[in-house]
Amino acid sequence: KESSPLNLYKFLPQTNCGECGEQTCMAFAAGIISRTRKIEECKPLVDEKNQKKYGKKLDQLKAVIAPEVALVYVGVGDQQLKVGGEDVMYRHQMTFFNKPPFAYDVTDGMNEADLVERVKLIDGWKKFYIGKWESVEMVAVRSVTGDPAKFAACVKKVMENTKKPMILCSFDPKVLKAGLEVSAATRPLIYAATKENWKEVAQLAFDYKVPVTLSVPFDLDGLKGMAQTFAEMGLKDLVLDPGTAPNGEKLQESLQNFIKLRRASVEEGQKDFNYPVMALPINAWMTTKDPVRGAYWESVLAATFVIRGADIMIRHSIEPHSVMPDMHLRFNIYTDPRTPVQVKPGLYKVGNPTESSPVFLTTNFALTYYTVESDLGSNNIDSYLLAVNTDGIGVQASVAGGQLTPAKIKDAFAEAGMDFEKTTHKAFILPGMAAKFSGELDDLYAYKVKAMVGPEDSGRIPGWMEKQWPP
Ligand code: SF4
Repeated sequence: KESSPLNLYKFLPQTNCGECGEQTCMAFAAGIISRTRKIEECKPLVDEKNQKKYGKKLDQLKAVIAPEVALVYVGVGDQQLKVGGEDVMYRHQMTFFNKPPFAYDVTDGMNEADLVERVKLIDGWKKFYIGKWESVEMVAVRSVTGDPAKFAACVKKVMENTKKPMILCSFDPKVLKAGLEVSAATRPLIYAATKENWKEVAQLAFDYKVPVTLSVPFDLDGLKGMAQTFAEMGLKDLVLDPGTAPNGEKLQESLQNFIKLRRASVEEGQKDFNYPVMALPINAWMTTKDPVRGAYWESVLAATFVIRGADIMIRHSIEPHSVMPDMHLRFNIYTDPRTPVQVKPGLYKVGNPTESSPVFLTTNFALTYYTVESDLGSNNIDSYLLAVNTDGIGVQASVAGGQLTPAKIKDAFAEAGMDFEKTTHKAFILPGMAAKFSGELDDLYAYKVKAMVGPEDSGRIPGWMEKQWPP
Protein backbone atom coordinates (compact mmCIF):
# COMPACT_ATOMS: atom_id res chain seq x y z
CA LYS A 1 0.00 0.00 0.00
CA GLU A 2 1.33 3.41 -0.98
CA SER A 3 -0.22 5.30 1.90
CA SER A 4 2.92 6.44 3.73
CA PRO A 5 2.66 9.91 5.33
CA LEU A 6 5.00 11.23 2.65
CA ASN A 7 2.80 9.88 -0.11
CA LEU A 8 -0.41 11.28 1.38
CA TYR A 9 1.26 14.64 1.98
CA LYS A 10 1.44 15.07 -1.82
CA PHE A 11 -2.35 15.27 -1.95
CA LEU A 12 -2.77 17.78 0.91
CA PRO A 13 -2.60 21.59 0.44
CA GLN A 14 0.88 21.63 2.05
CA THR A 15 0.28 25.06 3.63
CA ASN A 16 0.64 23.94 7.26
CA CYS A 17 -2.21 26.35 8.07
CA GLY A 18 -3.09 24.52 11.30
CA GLU A 19 -6.87 24.63 10.74
CA CYS A 20 -7.12 20.89 11.37
CA GLY A 21 -5.46 21.27 14.77
CA GLU A 22 -2.17 19.77 13.59
CA GLN A 23 0.91 21.91 13.22
CA THR A 24 1.82 20.44 9.85
CA CYS A 25 0.14 18.74 6.92
CA MET A 26 2.58 15.85 7.42
CA ALA A 27 1.25 15.25 10.94
CA PHE A 28 -2.28 15.28 9.53
CA ALA A 29 -1.20 12.74 6.88
CA ALA A 30 0.09 10.43 9.63
CA GLY A 31 -3.28 10.81 11.40
CA ILE A 32 -5.15 9.78 8.24
CA ILE A 33 -3.10 6.60 8.01
CA SER A 34 -3.81 5.65 11.62
CA ARG A 35 -7.47 6.62 11.02
CA THR A 36 -7.45 9.05 13.91
CA ARG A 37 -8.08 11.91 11.45
CA LYS A 38 -10.60 12.18 8.60
CA ILE A 39 -10.07 13.92 5.26
CA GLU A 40 -13.06 16.19 6.00
CA GLU A 41 -11.10 17.73 8.88
CA CYS A 42 -8.79 19.44 6.39
CA LYS A 43 -11.25 22.25 5.61
CA PRO A 44 -9.16 23.92 2.86
CA LEU A 45 -9.01 20.61 0.97
CA VAL A 46 -12.72 19.82 1.05
CA ASP A 47 -14.08 23.37 0.81
CA GLU A 48 -16.34 23.76 -2.27
CA LYS A 49 -14.73 27.06 -3.18
CA ASN A 50 -11.33 25.37 -3.44
CA GLN A 51 -12.71 22.67 -5.71
CA LYS A 52 -10.80 23.94 -8.75
CA LYS A 53 -7.53 24.09 -6.85
CA TYR A 54 -7.73 20.88 -4.84
CA GLY A 55 -10.56 18.80 -6.38
CA LYS A 56 -8.25 16.45 -8.25
CA LYS A 57 -5.97 15.97 -5.24
CA LEU A 58 -8.99 15.22 -3.07
CA ASP A 59 -10.16 12.48 -5.44
CA GLN A 60 -6.66 11.02 -5.62
CA LEU A 61 -6.33 11.07 -1.85
CA LYS A 62 -9.65 9.26 -1.42
CA ALA A 63 -8.51 6.57 -3.84
CA VAL A 64 -5.16 6.11 -2.10
CA ILE A 65 -6.60 5.79 1.39
CA ALA A 66 -9.55 3.55 0.47
CA PRO A 67 -9.21 0.47 2.68
CA GLU A 68 -7.79 -2.62 1.01
CA VAL A 69 -10.88 -4.62 1.97
CA ALA A 70 -13.86 -2.55 0.84
CA LEU A 71 -16.07 -1.07 3.54
CA VAL A 72 -19.76 -1.96 3.43
CA TYR A 73 -22.31 -0.22 5.64
CA VAL A 74 -25.23 -2.28 6.94
CA GLY A 75 -28.13 -0.81 8.91
CA VAL A 76 -28.84 2.85 9.62
CA GLY A 77 -28.55 5.34 12.47
CA ASP A 78 -26.47 4.77 15.56
CA GLN A 79 -26.60 0.98 15.18
CA GLN A 80 -25.19 1.08 11.65
CA LEU A 81 -22.32 -1.37 11.22
CA LYS A 82 -19.13 -1.12 9.24
CA VAL A 83 -18.31 -4.43 7.62
CA GLY A 84 -14.81 -4.96 6.19
CA GLY A 85 -12.59 -1.90 5.77
CA GLU A 86 -9.41 -3.68 6.83
CA ASP A 87 -5.95 -2.73 5.62
CA VAL A 88 -3.66 -5.53 6.77
CA MET A 89 -3.32 -9.31 6.73
CA TYR A 90 -2.18 -9.58 10.33
CA ARG A 91 -3.13 -7.50 13.33
CA HIS A 92 0.46 -6.73 14.33
CA GLN A 93 1.10 -5.00 10.97
CA MET A 94 -1.06 -2.09 12.18
CA THR A 95 -4.45 -2.97 13.67
CA PHE A 96 -7.80 -4.39 12.60
CA PHE A 97 -10.56 -1.79 12.63
CA ASN A 98 -14.04 -3.31 12.33
CA LYS A 99 -14.77 -6.42 14.37
CA PRO A 100 -16.91 -8.96 12.50
CA PRO A 101 -20.54 -8.51 13.61
CA PHE A 102 -22.22 -11.63 15.00
CA ALA A 103 -25.72 -12.08 13.48
CA TYR A 104 -28.02 -14.53 15.31
CA ASP A 105 -30.77 -16.23 13.39
CA VAL A 106 -34.53 -16.25 13.77
CA THR A 107 -36.90 -17.88 11.28
CA ASP A 108 -40.30 -17.22 9.79
CA GLY A 109 -41.31 -20.69 11.00
CA MET A 110 -41.21 -19.63 14.66
CA ASN A 111 -44.41 -18.85 16.49
CA GLU A 112 -44.77 -15.21 17.46
CA ALA A 113 -44.04 -15.63 21.17
CA ASP A 114 -40.82 -17.58 20.52
CA LEU A 115 -39.77 -15.14 17.81
CA VAL A 116 -40.24 -12.09 20.04
CA GLU A 117 -38.49 -13.80 22.94
CA ARG A 118 -35.45 -14.67 20.81
CA VAL A 119 -35.24 -11.22 19.23
CA LYS A 120 -35.34 -9.66 22.69
CA LEU A 121 -32.62 -12.05 23.84
CA ILE A 122 -30.43 -11.02 20.88
CA ASP A 123 -31.24 -7.35 21.39
CA GLY A 124 -30.35 -7.36 25.08
CA TRP A 125 -27.39 -9.75 25.04
CA LYS A 126 -24.40 -8.07 26.64
CA LYS A 127 -21.37 -8.87 28.70
CA PHE A 128 -18.98 -6.58 30.56
CA TYR A 129 -15.41 -7.40 29.58
CA ILE A 130 -12.26 -5.39 30.36
CA GLY A 131 -14.16 -2.18 30.97
CA LYS A 132 -16.49 -2.40 27.97
CA TRP A 133 -19.93 -3.78 27.24
CA GLU A 134 -19.77 -6.32 24.45
CA SER A 135 -22.94 -7.30 22.63
CA VAL A 136 -24.14 -9.23 19.61
CA GLU A 137 -24.81 -6.94 16.72
CA MET A 138 -27.33 -8.31 14.22
CA VAL A 139 -30.39 -10.42 13.57
CA ALA A 140 -30.36 -12.83 10.60
CA VAL A 141 -33.95 -13.46 9.52
CA ARG A 142 -34.12 -16.82 7.72
CA SER A 143 -36.98 -17.99 5.52
CA VAL A 144 -37.73 -21.64 6.24
CA THR A 145 -41.34 -21.58 5.01
CA GLY A 146 -40.56 -20.19 1.54
CA ASP A 147 -43.69 -18.05 1.94
CA PRO A 148 -43.11 -14.36 1.02
CA ALA A 149 -46.00 -13.12 3.22
CA LYS A 150 -44.78 -15.04 6.25
CA PHE A 151 -41.24 -13.78 5.71
CA ALA A 152 -42.40 -10.15 5.45
CA ALA A 153 -44.46 -10.54 8.65
CA CYS A 154 -41.47 -12.03 10.43
CA VAL A 155 -39.15 -9.20 9.31
CA LYS A 156 -41.74 -6.67 10.50
CA LYS A 157 -42.00 -8.35 13.89
CA VAL A 158 -38.21 -8.32 14.25
CA MET A 159 -38.14 -4.61 13.45
CA GLU A 160 -40.79 -3.93 16.10
CA ASN A 161 -38.52 -5.48 18.73
CA THR A 162 -35.01 -4.33 17.83
CA LYS A 163 -33.16 -1.61 15.97
CA LYS A 164 -30.24 -3.95 15.31
CA PRO A 165 -29.34 -4.29 11.62
CA MET A 166 -30.67 -7.36 9.81
CA ILE A 167 -29.54 -9.93 7.28
CA LEU A 168 -32.47 -11.17 5.16
CA CYS A 169 -31.78 -14.80 4.27
CA SER A 170 -33.40 -16.69 1.42
CA PHE A 171 -32.35 -17.99 -1.97
CA ASP A 172 -35.82 -17.19 -3.35
CA PRO A 173 -35.92 -13.66 -4.86
CA LYS A 174 -39.69 -13.42 -4.24
CA VAL A 175 -39.16 -14.02 -0.54
CA LEU A 176 -36.30 -11.51 -0.38
CA LYS A 177 -38.42 -8.94 -2.23
CA ALA A 178 -41.24 -9.32 0.31
CA GLY A 179 -38.75 -8.77 3.15
CA LEU A 180 -37.22 -5.75 1.43
CA GLU A 181 -40.66 -4.20 0.86
CA VAL A 182 -41.03 -3.75 4.62
CA SER A 183 -37.41 -3.15 5.61
CA ALA A 184 -35.34 -1.59 2.79
CA ALA A 185 -35.20 1.76 4.61
CA THR A 186 -33.20 0.06 7.39
CA ARG A 187 -30.55 -1.02 4.86
CA PRO A 188 -30.46 -4.76 5.57
CA LEU A 189 -27.86 -7.02 3.97
CA ILE A 190 -29.45 -9.62 1.72
CA TYR A 191 -28.27 -13.22 1.64
CA ALA A 192 -27.76 -14.40 -1.01
CA ALA A 193 -27.19 -14.25 -4.74
CA THR A 194 -26.23 -17.68 -6.09
CA LYS A 195 -25.38 -19.09 -9.51
CA GLU A 196 -29.08 -19.85 -9.95
CA ASN A 197 -30.77 -16.65 -8.82
CA TRP A 198 -28.13 -13.93 -9.30
CA LYS A 199 -29.96 -11.94 -11.98
CA GLU A 200 -33.11 -11.44 -9.89
CA VAL A 201 -31.16 -10.81 -6.68
CA ALA A 202 -28.91 -8.26 -8.43
CA GLN A 203 -32.05 -6.47 -9.58
CA LEU A 204 -33.36 -6.42 -6.00
CA ALA A 205 -30.08 -4.98 -4.66
CA PHE A 206 -30.23 -2.36 -7.40
CA ASP A 207 -33.90 -1.44 -6.89
CA TYR A 208 -33.79 -1.31 -3.10
CA LYS A 209 -30.23 0.08 -2.82
CA VAL A 210 -29.10 -2.50 -0.27
CA PRO A 211 -25.86 -4.46 0.15
CA VAL A 212 -25.90 -8.04 -1.09
CA THR A 213 -24.03 -11.27 -0.31
CA LEU A 214 -22.73 -13.40 -3.18
CA SER A 215 -22.68 -17.08 -2.26
CA VAL A 216 -20.58 -19.42 -4.40
CA PRO A 217 -19.27 -22.06 -1.98
CA PHE A 218 -15.86 -23.61 -2.63
CA ASP A 219 -15.40 -22.00 -6.05
CA LEU A 220 -13.34 -18.82 -5.84
CA ASP A 221 -13.23 -18.34 -9.63
CA GLY A 222 -17.01 -18.54 -9.79
CA LEU A 223 -17.25 -16.08 -6.89
CA LYS A 224 -14.86 -13.67 -8.57
CA GLY A 225 -16.79 -13.84 -11.84
CA MET A 226 -20.03 -13.02 -10.04
CA ALA A 227 -18.42 -10.13 -8.12
CA GLN A 228 -17.13 -8.67 -11.39
CA THR A 229 -20.56 -8.97 -12.99
CA PHE A 230 -22.24 -7.22 -10.05
CA ALA A 231 -19.61 -4.46 -10.07
CA GLU A 232 -20.18 -3.90 -13.80
CA MET A 233 -23.87 -3.42 -12.96
CA GLY A 234 -22.86 -0.68 -10.51
CA LEU A 235 -23.33 -2.86 -7.42
CA LYS A 236 -20.30 -2.40 -5.22
CA ASP A 237 -21.74 -2.97 -1.72
CA LEU A 238 -20.93 -6.66 -1.83
CA VAL A 239 -20.13 -9.32 0.75
CA LEU A 240 -18.60 -12.64 -0.33
CA ASP A 241 -19.58 -16.07 0.99
CA PRO A 242 -16.83 -18.46 -0.15
CA GLY A 243 -18.31 -21.41 1.79
CA THR A 244 -17.90 -22.42 5.45
CA ALA A 245 -17.46 -26.12 6.13
CA PRO A 246 -19.93 -27.21 8.80
CA ASN A 247 -17.46 -29.20 10.91
CA GLY A 248 -13.97 -30.68 10.69
CA GLU A 249 -14.65 -31.85 7.16
CA LYS A 250 -13.42 -29.36 4.51
CA LEU A 251 -12.42 -26.93 7.25
CA GLN A 252 -8.94 -26.67 5.77
CA GLU A 253 -10.31 -25.70 2.36
CA SER A 254 -12.63 -23.11 3.92
CA LEU A 255 -9.80 -21.61 5.86
CA GLN A 256 -7.49 -21.50 2.84
CA ASN A 257 -10.19 -19.73 0.81
CA PHE A 258 -10.70 -17.09 3.49
CA ILE A 259 -6.95 -16.45 3.63
CA LYS A 260 -6.73 -16.29 -0.18
CA LEU A 261 -9.51 -13.70 -0.26
CA ARG A 262 -7.86 -11.48 2.35
CA ARG A 263 -4.54 -11.85 0.56
CA ALA A 264 -6.13 -10.95 -2.79
CA SER A 265 -7.40 -7.69 -1.22
CA VAL A 266 -4.47 -6.71 0.96
CA GLU A 267 -1.35 -8.09 -0.67
CA GLU A 268 -2.33 -8.46 -4.31
CA GLY A 269 -4.52 -5.35 -4.52
CA GLN A 270 -7.22 -7.10 -6.57
CA LYS A 271 -9.67 -4.22 -6.59
CA ASP A 272 -12.33 -6.24 -8.39
CA PHE A 273 -12.34 -8.83 -5.62
CA ASN A 274 -11.66 -6.89 -2.43
CA TYR A 275 -14.97 -7.29 -0.62
CA PRO A 276 -15.68 -8.28 2.97
CA VAL A 277 -16.15 -11.98 3.58
CA MET A 278 -18.92 -13.79 5.44
CA ALA A 279 -18.47 -16.94 7.54
CA LEU A 280 -21.38 -19.19 8.48
CA PRO A 281 -20.65 -20.96 11.78
CA ILE A 282 -24.41 -21.62 11.83
CA ASN A 283 -23.72 -24.42 9.32
CA ALA A 284 -22.39 -26.52 12.19
CA TRP A 285 -25.63 -26.27 14.09
CA MET A 286 -27.76 -26.83 10.99
CA THR A 287 -25.81 -29.94 10.08
CA THR A 288 -25.67 -31.62 13.45
CA LYS A 289 -29.00 -30.46 14.95
CA ASP A 290 -27.45 -31.58 18.20
CA PRO A 291 -27.46 -28.48 20.42
CA VAL A 292 -24.30 -29.33 22.36
CA ARG A 293 -22.24 -30.54 19.40
CA GLY A 294 -23.61 -27.78 17.18
CA ALA A 295 -22.75 -25.07 19.71
CA TYR A 296 -19.28 -26.55 20.10
CA TRP A 297 -18.55 -26.57 16.38
CA GLU A 298 -20.11 -23.15 15.88
CA SER A 299 -17.75 -21.77 18.47
CA VAL A 300 -14.76 -23.52 16.89
CA LEU A 301 -15.64 -22.19 13.44
CA ALA A 302 -16.31 -18.68 14.68
CA ALA A 303 -12.97 -18.59 16.51
CA THR A 304 -11.17 -19.90 13.43
CA PHE A 305 -12.66 -17.29 11.15
CA VAL A 306 -12.41 -14.39 13.62
CA ILE A 307 -8.67 -15.00 13.47
CA ARG A 308 -8.50 -15.57 9.72
CA GLY A 309 -10.38 -13.00 7.80
CA ALA A 310 -14.14 -13.18 8.38
CA ASP A 311 -15.71 -9.73 8.31
CA ILE A 312 -19.23 -10.80 9.34
CA MET A 313 -20.81 -14.07 10.49
CA ILE A 314 -24.20 -15.74 10.94
CA ARG A 315 -24.63 -17.92 14.04
CA HIS A 316 -27.32 -19.78 15.92
CA SER A 317 -26.17 -20.94 19.36
CA ILE A 318 -26.52 -17.97 21.69
CA GLU A 319 -25.77 -19.78 24.94
CA PRO A 320 -22.96 -18.07 26.88
CA HIS A 321 -20.67 -21.12 26.55
CA SER A 322 -20.85 -20.79 22.75
CA VAL A 323 -20.76 -16.99 22.41
CA MET A 324 -18.30 -15.91 25.06
CA PRO A 325 -15.09 -17.62 23.95
CA ASP A 326 -15.51 -16.08 20.48
CA MET A 327 -16.54 -12.73 21.86
CA HIS A 328 -13.44 -12.54 24.08
CA LEU A 329 -11.24 -13.66 21.21
CA ARG A 330 -12.82 -11.07 18.91
CA PHE A 331 -12.36 -8.37 21.54
CA ASN A 332 -8.67 -9.18 21.86
CA ILE A 333 -7.99 -9.46 18.15
CA TYR A 334 -9.78 -6.20 17.39
CA THR A 335 -8.23 -4.02 20.09
CA ASP A 336 -5.57 -1.72 18.72
CA PRO A 337 -2.14 -3.22 19.53
CA ARG A 338 -0.60 0.24 19.18
CA THR A 339 -2.39 1.51 22.29
CA PRO A 340 -2.81 -0.83 25.29
CA VAL A 341 -6.31 -0.90 26.76
CA GLN A 342 -6.13 1.33 29.82
CA VAL A 343 -8.18 2.50 32.77
CA LYS A 344 -7.88 6.01 34.18
CA PRO A 345 -5.12 6.03 36.80
CA GLY A 346 -6.34 6.75 40.34
CA LEU A 347 -7.67 5.27 43.57
CA TYR A 348 -10.84 3.18 43.22
CA LYS A 349 -13.18 1.77 45.85
CA VAL A 350 -14.22 -1.87 45.70
CA GLY A 351 -17.39 -2.44 47.74
CA ASN A 352 -17.68 -0.19 50.81
CA PRO A 353 -14.17 0.22 52.23
CA THR A 354 -13.53 1.73 55.69
CA GLU A 355 -10.39 2.88 57.49
CA SER A 356 -9.51 -0.73 58.32
CA SER A 357 -9.92 -2.05 54.75
CA PRO A 358 -6.89 -3.27 52.81
CA VAL A 359 -5.30 -1.06 50.15
CA PHE A 360 -4.13 -2.85 47.00
CA LEU A 361 -2.32 -1.55 43.99
CA THR A 362 -1.92 -2.62 40.39
CA THR A 363 -1.20 -0.94 37.05
CA ASN A 364 -3.66 0.81 34.74
CA PHE A 365 -3.47 -1.98 32.11
CA ALA A 366 -7.20 -2.66 31.77
CA LEU A 367 -6.93 -6.44 31.71
CA THR A 368 -4.90 -6.48 34.96
CA TYR A 369 -7.03 -3.85 36.66
CA TYR A 370 -10.38 -5.53 35.93
CA THR A 371 -9.02 -8.95 36.88
CA VAL A 372 -7.89 -7.68 40.30
CA GLU A 373 -11.08 -5.66 40.78
CA SER A 374 -13.21 -8.67 39.93
CA ASP A 375 -11.23 -10.98 42.23
CA LEU A 376 -11.71 -8.51 45.08
CA GLY A 377 -15.37 -7.79 44.33
CA SER A 378 -16.44 -11.39 43.81
CA ASN A 379 -14.84 -12.34 47.14
CA ASN A 380 -16.58 -9.45 48.94
CA ILE A 381 -13.28 -7.87 49.95
CA ASP A 382 -14.16 -4.24 50.66
CA SER A 383 -10.96 -2.44 49.72
CA TYR A 384 -9.17 0.38 47.95
CA LEU A 385 -7.43 -0.33 44.65
CA LEU A 386 -4.84 2.05 43.22
CA ALA A 387 -4.29 1.95 39.43
CA VAL A 388 -0.80 3.34 38.82
CA ASN A 389 -0.23 4.97 35.44
CA THR A 390 2.17 2.69 33.56
CA ASP A 391 0.90 3.69 30.09
CA GLY A 392 -1.32 0.64 30.11
CA ILE A 393 1.47 -1.88 30.67
CA GLY A 394 0.93 -4.86 32.99
CA VAL A 395 2.73 -5.40 36.31
CA GLN A 396 5.51 -7.78 35.27
CA ALA A 397 6.46 -5.84 32.11
CA SER A 398 6.26 -2.43 33.80
CA VAL A 399 8.46 -3.60 36.71
CA ALA A 400 11.01 -4.81 34.15
CA GLY A 401 10.63 -1.77 31.86
CA GLY A 402 10.74 0.92 34.54
CA GLN A 403 7.18 2.18 34.12
CA LEU A 404 6.39 0.97 37.66
CA THR A 405 8.87 2.10 40.30
CA PRO A 406 8.75 2.66 44.09
CA ALA A 407 8.86 6.45 43.61
CA LYS A 408 6.00 6.27 41.11
CA ILE A 409 3.91 4.23 43.53
CA LYS A 410 4.46 6.74 46.31
CA ASP A 411 3.63 9.66 43.99
CA ALA A 412 0.51 7.87 42.73
CA PHE A 413 -0.80 7.38 46.28
CA ALA A 414 -0.06 11.04 47.06
CA GLU A 415 -1.77 12.29 43.88
CA ALA A 416 -4.82 10.13 44.64
CA GLY A 417 -5.06 11.74 48.11
CA MET A 418 -4.40 8.52 50.02
CA ASP A 419 -3.71 9.40 53.66
CA PHE A 420 -2.35 6.31 55.41
CA GLU A 421 -2.49 8.14 58.76
CA LYS A 422 -6.27 7.75 58.59
CA THR A 423 -6.11 3.98 58.17
CA THR A 424 -5.94 1.61 61.14
CA HIS A 425 -3.23 -0.52 59.50
CA LYS A 426 -0.93 2.02 57.77
CA ALA A 427 -0.09 -0.47 55.04
CA PHE A 428 -0.68 -1.30 51.39
CA ILE A 429 -0.32 -4.50 49.43
CA LEU A 430 2.03 -4.78 46.47
CA PRO A 431 1.39 -7.23 43.65
CA GLY A 432 3.67 -10.27 44.14
CA MET A 433 5.45 -9.46 40.87
CA ALA A 434 6.58 -6.13 42.33
CA ALA A 435 7.90 -7.76 45.53
CA LYS A 436 11.39 -6.40 44.98
CA PHE A 437 10.10 -2.85 45.61
CA SER A 438 9.05 -3.52 49.21
CA GLY A 439 12.36 -2.57 50.89
CA GLU A 440 12.77 0.61 48.87
CA LEU A 441 9.18 1.59 49.56
CA ASP A 442 9.66 1.08 53.30
CA ASP A 443 12.63 3.46 53.02
CA LEU A 444 10.67 6.00 50.98
CA TYR A 445 7.91 6.01 53.57
CA ALA A 446 10.49 6.11 56.42
CA TYR A 447 8.90 2.96 57.87
CA LYS A 448 5.69 4.86 58.64
CA VAL A 449 3.76 2.93 55.99
CA LYS A 450 4.31 -0.77 55.44
CA ALA A 451 4.61 -2.18 51.89
CA MET A 452 3.32 -5.74 52.19
CA VAL A 453 3.93 -8.28 49.44
CA GLY A 454 0.73 -9.82 48.10
CA PRO A 455 0.32 -12.89 45.91
CA GLU A 456 1.44 -12.95 42.26
CA ASP A 457 -2.02 -14.00 41.18
CA SER A 458 -4.92 -11.85 42.41
CA GLY A 459 -7.08 -15.01 42.49
CA ARG A 460 -5.07 -15.97 45.57
CA ILE A 461 -5.83 -12.78 47.49
CA PRO A 462 -8.55 -14.40 49.69
CA GLY A 463 -6.12 -17.12 50.84
CA TRP A 464 -3.39 -14.53 51.36
CA MET A 465 -5.78 -12.38 53.41
CA GLU A 466 -6.59 -15.30 55.73
CA LYS A 467 -2.93 -15.68 56.67
CA GLN A 468 -1.54 -12.14 56.38
CA TRP A 469 -4.28 -9.63 57.01
CA PRO A 470 -4.41 -7.49 59.11
CA PRO A 471 -0.65 -6.81 59.23
FE1 SF4 B 1 -2.53 21.03 6.26
FE2 SF4 B 1 -5.13 20.86 5.85
FE3 SF4 B 1 -4.19 20.69 8.30
FE4 SF4 B 1 -4.10 23.01 7.03
S1 SF4 B 1 -5.93 21.91 7.63
S2 SF4 B 1 -2.46 22.05 8.24
S3 SF4 B 1 -3.77 22.35 4.96
S4 SF4 B 1 -3.80 19.28 6.64
